[in-house]
Amino acid sequence: MKANKPKKSFLSGGPRNLLIGTMVLLGFIFILHTLTERNRVIQPLTYSKFLNLIERDEVKRVHVAGHDVHGFLKDGTRFETTIANKSGDWELLRKHNVEFSIDSPDGAFNIWYLLPLLSLFMVTMMALWYFLRQSRGSNGGGGNSIFTMGKSRARLFMPSSINVKFDDVAGVQEAKEELKDIVDYLKNPEKYQRIGAKIPRGALLVGAPGNGKTMLARAVAGEANCAFFSVSGSDFIEVFVGVGAARVRDLFQQARKHAPCIIFIDEIDAVGRQRGSGLGGGHDEREQTLNQMLAEMDGFQTTGGSVIVLAATNRPDVLDNALLRPGRFDRRVDVPYPDLKSREQILGVHAKEVKMSDEVDLYKIARGTPGFSGADLANLINESAIIASKANKEKVDIADMEEARDKILLGKEVKSIVQTDEDRKVTSYHESGHALVRLLMPDDSDPLHKVTIVPRGRALGVTHAMPEREKYTHTKEDMIANIMSALGGRAAEELVFNKLTTGAYSDFKAASSIARDMVCNYGMGSDLGQVIYAQGHGDFVYSQKTAERIDGEVQRIMDECYGRTMTLLKENREKLNLLAETLFEQETMYAEEIYELLGIEPRAQHRFS
Ligand code: ADP
Ligand code: ZN
Repeated sequence: MKANKPKKSFLSGGPRNLLIGTMVLLGFIFILHTLTERNRVIQPLTYSKFLNLIERDEVKRVHVAGHDVHGFLKDGTRFETTIANKSGDWELLRKHNVEFSIDSPDGAFNIWYLLPLLSLFMVTMMALWYFLRQSRGSNGGGGNSIFTMGKSRARLFMPSSINVKFDDVAGVQEAKEELKDIVDYLKNPEKYQRIGAKIPRGALLVGAPGNGKTMLARAVAGEANCAFFSVSGSDFIEVFVGVGAARVRDLFQQARKHAPCIIFIDEIDAVGRQRGSGLGGGHDEREQTLNQMLAEMDGFQTTGGSVIVLAATNRPDVLDNALLRPGRFDRRVDVPYPDLKSREQILGVHAKEVKMSDEVDLYKIARGTPGFSGADLANLINESAIIASKANKEKVDIADMEEARDKILLGKEVKSIVQTDEDRKVTSYHESGHALVRLLMPDDSDPLHKVTIVPRGRALGVTHAMPEREKYTHTKEDMIANIMSALGGRAAEELVFNKLTTGAYSDFKAASSIARDMVCNYGMGSDLGQVIYAQGHGDFVYSQKTAERIDGEVQRIMDECYGRTMTLLKENREKLNLLAETLFEQETMYAEEIYELLGIEPRAQHRFS
């Protein structure tokens, strides 16, 4: 889960320990130094006084270095003096039983002068020890020393340590279907190689954080019982040019050793952004890294075992197109926010981990948590368990769940992700408008697949038509049907709420682009005739006057379609209401459910399935 990954602070773990250690050491040395300072109070004596003291037998010990004399009196006082080099003095010392030693003149040496040097030395040693230790233990990530710069920071999980299966990932049915192919391939590569089937080398898991992308990737490894490398796109990024590329190389090299296996790259957009999008030359490093990744992906299938790369992102739009080409991340697997049913299932998975009172109805909780991600729901269960524990309860009850929900909701509202019921109602009608118009179109236009009001990317809801046939097979009726169902959303909003929202902008863009195609490319405009007016690519093959006529014709088609759509919805107002209300409750509906709900005879395509 990305959200609560601890931030790396400037001083964390090792470096901080090192700093504290050094400070303690220096403090210790300082105390020692001041303690012994007392002994260092030195009495300067004149030569004659010194001789006097010897005569009175008060001197215990002296050390002579050249003309300098250091010594102790019998009462412990330290003294120093300067003497003349007369051998007669030695006799005097002997006579009075003074211990004495003589040094060469330069040997006068004080250990305390060495202290700063000594501590510097120790600090250096400790730093060295720290880095050496780091370089040994850093394959698990986190370490960053000169010895390991070019090593990948991926974490490797062996099959035995992966305990996630598809069943643990609740909801996301379609994503699991898509990924099953990969599991099957990893398990029986020969089956595919025999026939020469091309297998995806990579799949892109697209969805907002916390909806289970990481979990799904692990589950693929879990199902296929193969090794799993986990790394984040940002782990490749380093200021030093060439380091990222080296890490990529290292990662793939390791992965090949463990093939068959999965490489999971979280937040791939950190490396995978469109090349050349940075100002100036500051992006060389990232581009090199990306190029290396592309090269590795192109290369690895030919050199043996299968390594499949799964990458996660919430921003597929910023990725470099080269990444999405065949043989790379050519499969896109959507991992959307969970709808009602999925939310209930996710709650079910996590509720198993705590003691839950029987009165808690997870379906109700699921209904009260639209817009929650899988991670939010896991968090909800955990929070409620904490709340219940604090209150010394035996089990988690409804009140705990509600308190936890409100707490999380508050956090989400700050980020303004949560939609009000009013918003969701408008979205329900909007999507129902698209869907209903689509259903009421002639049998041979694109059939409806599913409708959802679960937000995805920037869209509030989505209405899918399936199968998407190639453009050139569209008939004029097909194209009109597509325009009308695109306009159905806006028309429903206008009909029911009598107000216009900005939500329909992309619908309008889509509709008018179809209309323009009809007029310019297919000669379907009524008064422009069978002429193709190429558009785009910069070369205008028609005059200003023709351009105006094209615009007029596009406008006419749009107006006519909008009018027809409105009439259609008015005639089917009850169906629209029923669909919108049911969709509001269920959030996602498949074509079959809608046919049944509205009592419409299913289309040929659906009768078989
Ligand atoms: P992502 O990689 O998309 O950011 P994660 O896979 O890290 O999301 O999910 C974060 C956590 O949220 C998981 O560890 C799990 O507890 C919970 N979670 C998310 N989606 C699901 C799901 N479909 N079923 C069960 N738990 C989920
Ligand atoms: Zn729409």
